[in-house]
Amino acid sequence: MGLGEISELCYRITESYLQLPNRTDIITETKDAIRLTREYLLDDIFTRWSPINGQISFSYNGGKDCQVLLLLYLSCLWEFFYINGKTSQFDYEYQKFPMKLLPTVFIDQDATFITLEKFISETSQRYSLSLYESRREVSKNQNMADSFRDFLKIYPETEAIVIGIRHTDPYGESLKPIQKTDSNWPEFIRLQPLLHWKLASIWSFLLFSNEPICGLYGVGFTSIGSMESTVPNPYLSKKGNDVLPLQFEWEINNAFGKEKEGETKTVHVSNLEESDQEWLATVTDSDYYPGWYLIDDSIERAGRIKKG
Ligand code: FAD
Ligand code: MG
Ligand code: MG
Repeated sequence: MGLGEISELCYRITESYLQLPNRTDIITETKDAIRLTREYLLDDIFTRWSPINGQISFSYNGGKDCQVLLLLYLSCLWEFFYINGKTSQFDYEYQKFPMKLLPTVFIDQDATFITLEKFISETSQRYSLSLYESRREVSKNQNMADSFRDFLKIYPETEAIVIGIRHTDPYGESLKPIQKTDSNWPEFIRLQPLLHWKLASIWSFLLFSNEPICGLYGVGFTSIGSMESTVPNPYLSKKGNDVLPLQFEWEINNAFGKEKEGETKTVHVSNLEESDQEWLATVTDSDYYPGWYLIDDSIERAGRIKKG
């Protein structure tokens, strides 16, 4: 699949979600969230920064939030170029999908789970990303702002970077969809079209999409930091907790493309690497519900621990 094809697939996933019946409040809310993100991207962002000439880059760390945003971003790219292009008087040449790879950036800061590293590399292929990866030896000794300074030296054409941050993230409350970086950061525009998304909507859309998701979510992670600062979410532990209900049974059973292929109704989690399994056994002796059993934004980061 090239960038054009995967963008078209994301477009079809998004359109299908928007046409779902309003079976649950979560689905209704998620549709509204999708519509607003699309408005930001199509009306406010792509009209000011060109997505094809390197002016926009996408910050990607393999997490659920930037994956959701990536699916919507690609969907909007398809709409912007193909659907809009088709109805305009541009010649045939312009109607072909105008880019091959999507400029993306990953800052490899600390001990990254191998499962996540592999997932980033597999999804780079799947979503046709041209991924700049910072060198860990360098970026682990500096803050993220400096790592982006290094990135901009290599890609000086970058004017704006897409970020999958949400209002419920730490310091996310007062952020805006389009804003300059703070003064201690290199100067560029932050594009944050996912701010209004709730955790429940993230899972509803991602599980419906039927796209592969990082294997760590399958074993109780809800928010993934470095290996030194992340454990499975204690609220999902099967020890000492009540039986938890699954809120997304419908999305999983009716996920995009499943009917046609006669697929089994499971979630596609990436393979959990052996070294991560071993590591997991050293930090907990409990089993966990998958990450999507947790929909309370206020405890999404309960598995993040302070470095000791
Ligand atoms: P997460 O949910 O892990 O991350 C939120 C989003 O940030 C992700 O979806 C992804 O898009 C991006 N991201 C996170 N980690 C990485 C990574 N290692 N590599 C690539 N992308 C990543 N903070 C300020 O105080 N002032 C600023 O001006 C500012 N500008 C920023 C510009 C960019 C491009 C980015 C990526 C971050 C910036 N930040 C800034 C920091 C930001 O507000 C978050 O604190 C940071 O993204 C970490 O998020 P998190 O781990 O809390 O949440
Ligand atoms: Mg997040
Ligand atoms: Mg993070």
